Amino acid sequence: MPIDATKPYDDENIFAKILRGEIPSTKVYEDDWAYAFEDINPQAEIHTLVIPKGRYVSWDDFSAKASDEEIGGFVRAVGEVARAKGLVEPGYRLLANIGGHGHQEVPHLHVHIFGGHPLGPMLV
Ligand code: AMP
Repeated sequence: MPIDATKPYDDENIFAKILRGEIPSTKVYEDDWAYAFEDINPQAEIHTLVIPKGRYVSWDDFSAKASDEEIGGFVRAVGEVARAKGLVEPGYRLLANIGGHGHQEVPHLHVHIFGGHPLGPMLV
């Protein structure tokens, strides 16, 4: 079920639990600003999620409320993960779903990284 991205942050969401180490994840990368792990239900050969360490429901409140340092750290981390995965030369896709129409299911901001093969045109 898609979430309402205007609701307050829920500390019991599944990605908050992953950040606290309460449920397992396959870690790919971590720094002061971000944590990256493999998607449990991959939609491409490479499907990695990158999440900020701060408590942000979606791109909306992140872009409105996060500090420039947090935003910069998070954006840089997404690039680091893509580079570490060797995705730069073949290319890759970034995706962030936001709220109901965006079909966001987990209420903690996450950027999907897809790659590993030609992805074809984006289907909306
Ligand atoms: P979205 O629709 O953008 O909110 O995507 C949520 C993503 O989180 C989906 O691709 C799920 O497969 C993924 N996901 C849900 N639970 C887990 C989990 N425990 N570990 C890794 N990925 C997960």
